[in-house]
Amino acid sequence: MTQLSCPMARSMVSDYIDGDLPRDQARSLEDHLQTCQFCPPLYASLVETLTELKALDDVGGVDQLVRRVLAALAEPPGPDDPLPRRA
Ligand SMILES: [Zn+2]
Repeated sequence: MTQLSCPMARSMVSDYIDGDLPRDQARSLEDHLQTCQFCPPLYASLVETLTELKALDDVGGVDQLVRRVLAALAEPPGPDDPLPRRA
């Protein structure tokens, strides 16, 4: 199975949520989300945001907001940066 880097995984997340990701890539992303300590919270917040927006039926703003969230996803600390760890 292909090992994804965090930037690769994050670039695939929006397609994954849309259901546009090929099955093998979706599997790789799911595998990454299960093993990575950085991406799952980002993925969860993106899903949460999209879910809330769909609930509001605010379709016009979704595209812009997705872009903002994806831009934010590109910025969080990578594996080289210390993060607070759960004890
Ligand atoms: Zn990751």
